[in-house]
Amino acid sequence: MASYLNNLFIVEENDWFGDAMAKGTTPIDGYVEADEARGSENDIDPHVPNVIGILPIRNTVAYPGTVTPLTVGRERSKALLADTKPNESLIGLLTQRNPDTDTPGFADLYSVGTTASVLKIIKMPQGSVNIFVHGIARFKIVERIATEPYLKARIKLLTVKTKMTKQLQALMVSVRQSANRVVALSPNVPEEASVLLENIEDPSSLADFLAANLSMDVVKKQELLAQLDPVKRLDELSVILAHQLEVLELSHKIQGRVRDSIDKSQREYFLQEQLKAIQSELGQQDMRTEELKELRQNIANARMPKAVETEALRELDRLSKIPAASPEYSVIRTYLDWVCELPWSVQTEDRIDIGQAQRILNRDHYDLTKVKKRILEFLAVRKLNPKGKSPILCFIGPPGVGKTSLGRSIARSMGRKFVRVSLGGIRDEADIRGHRRTYIGALPGRVMQELRKCHSRNPVFMLDELDKIGADFRGDPASALLEVLDPEQNSTFSDHYLDQPFDLSAVMFIGTANYTEPIPPALFDRMELIELPGYTETEKLRIAKRYLVPRQLKEHGLSKSQLTIRDEAIRTTINSYTREAGVRNLERHIAAICRSVATQIAKGDKRRATIGAKDLARILGPAQHESELALRTGIPGVATALAYTPVGGELLFIESASMPGKGNLQLTGHIGDVMKESAQAAFSLVKASAKRLGIDEKQFAKADYHIHVPAGAIPKDGPSAGVAMFTSLVSLLLQKPTRPDVAMTGEITLRGLVMPIGGLKEKVLAAKQAGITTVLLPMRNRKDLPEIPTEARKGLRFVFVRNVEEALKAALDAA
Ligand code: ADP
Repeated sequence: MASYLNNLFIVEENDWFGDAMAKGTTPIDGYVEADEARGSENDIDPHVPNVIGILPIRNTVAYPGTVTPLTVGRERSKALLADTKPNESLIGLLTQRNPDTDTPGFADLYSVGTTASVLKIIKMPQGSVNIFVHGIARFKIVERIATEPYLKARIKLLTVKTKMTKQLQALMVSVRQSANRVVALSPNVPEEASVLLENIEDPSSLADFLAANLSMDVVKKQELLAQLDPVKRLDELSVILAHQLEVLELSHKIQGRVRDSIDKSQREYFLQEQLKAIQSELGQQDMRTEELKELRQNIANARMPKAVETEALRELDRLSKIPAASPEYSVIRTYLDWVCELPWSVQTEDRIDIGQAQRILNRDHYDLTKVKKRILEFLAVRKLNPKGKSPILCFIGPPGVGKTSLGRSIARSMGRKFVRVSLGGIRDEADIRGHRRTYIGALPGRVMQELRKCHSRNPVFMLDELDKIGADFRGDPASALLEVLDPEQNSTFSDHYLDQPFDLSAVMFIGTANYTEPIPPALFDRMELIELPGYTETEKLRIAKRYLVPRQLKEHGLSKSQLTIRDEAIRTTINSYTREAGVRNLERHIAAICRSVATQIAKGDKRRATIGAKDLARILGPAQHESELALRTGIPGVATALAYTPVGGELLFIESASMPGKGNLQLTGHIGDVMKESAQAAFSLVKASAKRLGIDEKQFAKADYHIHVPAGAIPKDGPSAGVAMFTSLVSLLLQKPTRPDVAMTGEITLRGLVMPIGGLKEKVLAAKQAGITTVLLPMRNRKDLPEIPTEARKGLRFVFVRNVEEALKAALDAA
């Protein structure tokens, strides 16, 4: 369709072109085409030569007022162009009757043509020449002048006569309308063409413009050129336009239909896609039906109590009505999974065989006679009265003394599963009891989590570190634990997340703690305490030889014959590489020895090894604990206390110092409130008994005092350093050092009495390990002495004191 009007914009300067059209004149060479305004057919411009060169053209007809691009290849034509000056000389354009004639003579050409000026000559690389010609006026040949080097003829310009009538005006309007319509329907013709059409006022120019731009055969075009009457031409053109319009409209319609059909197929495609989505959704529906079926089955399989089951089915019903993408869906789904996986009715069969239990306990643990006896009694009662409410055992002792491993042995000897939860650092009730389901990411508490993991409703459940439970604004975990442990309440323990009672009465709870003091009293009351004091060096040696070494050998793939660790090596490890009441670090060091030997054997360096004390430095590095005793004491103001810390018995060196001041007391060294108070009491007691002790009372008004307990990283608390603090202050004030081989323990009263303390065995063991020879103990602890193994007592002198004077007598250097 572009071809209808495509000549229009070939020349860039179409404004000029438009102007020319609008005015019906061309400015070229000052030549003026004869027009109707002048109305004279014979008004010939005197500048137009009457003999001009003729350029035969094929397949097209050039009209006045239009620009036509032509490709010139024939020799004659080139010769003509050679004689032609662009924008100056005129040539005559005549169309060939037969486009196939290569060297046309006059006879081969129509006799009416258009004079034209050549606007531009562009020489193409292949030898042809492209030219643009601007048609100026119609002419006809009156005489043939020459054929070589190109056709030359005498011509006569043909003038066009027009009389503007109403009919012609109406015809122009109608032609313009049709032409505008053609422009509108032709997608490649620019809008400006319509503007151009509106601006051509001369009927002949309008006809020529349209004839040049409409597509029709050459014969028809030539006819339109030869026709001088513009009315006739316009008539003819209106028919052609109508025809073209029809074709265009038809094609437009067809296009519309094509578009419709494309739209339709797009719609179908879209619907198909939707259908697919719906089908896959339906597939998911199938999956969901499957999922719901499975959940229903799980609920049935879990054999939960009726009330819980009803609730679970209610949730399942809600689940079936919620779209899978909704967040609520996964919340309910998780809940149902939890409910189904809890061991509502799964439990292990108890098989309590006291003889067997004893064997297991003995096989796993050295000594601990009292503890084992108590455990066996406990099991015996359970065997005879399985339904009875047995007490909750709580193992108290420093780390590494075998609390956890005893728990495991109990579980094994009863045929139950074993789970362990560390309560250290728990501050939130929700840790025990879970969060309500309304919270995002809510989960059940630790108790339910462990039960789900072990999948039994009657495991041996160890609650580790009962003494490390905290409490803050989020609620008191201890109160939740109370409900867990209380036999009266725990058959309907309600976890916030599950929101359904779970019967914990079949669970056998065992607690562990390093200290008894920090255990919340309500919990403490519900438990039967079993103390596991630390081990002596010899006990540790035996445990190492009988249990730890064989176990580590096995774990490292070594046989007994491949590695022998001498007793002296084990003793050195105990004394110089570990400082603990239990055997946990000892076991780690034995593991390190095994690793080192295993590497050598695996490398092929050795086939067997015997480790003596001198090899330890190479394997374990330099000894980590040296005796500090001699360094610490020997100066006035230092006293050695025996304390019980979370890691067992410890020696504490209490240091006192004075400086000019007003009698204030300062305390440092990470000490707890009870120990601070005990220091205050010691200070008051010193001041109160100054006279009796021979201390100058005036000193107190002039000096400040400072008590420091080194090893600030370890938290220290308790009243049992009272005697040592008093002794340290007196030693400072009297400037008498304490004896370096004396260590003491005991609480003091303001009246100077020495009160009994706990943790006797650990303290004595620590004293012995540190090389102390004299231990000062409260008189009222005398009855506990038999608890301390004879071996630990060996070489130690015990001085039992009733009051501080007796303590001073034994502790201060006589010198
Ligand atoms: P706790 O729970 O008291 O901190 P563990 O039960 O974890 O201590 O004991 C630490 C290691 O010491 C374990 O490997 C344990 O078997 C071993 N152990 C402790 N006491 C004994 C003992 N009396 N006889 C044998 N091994 C023991």
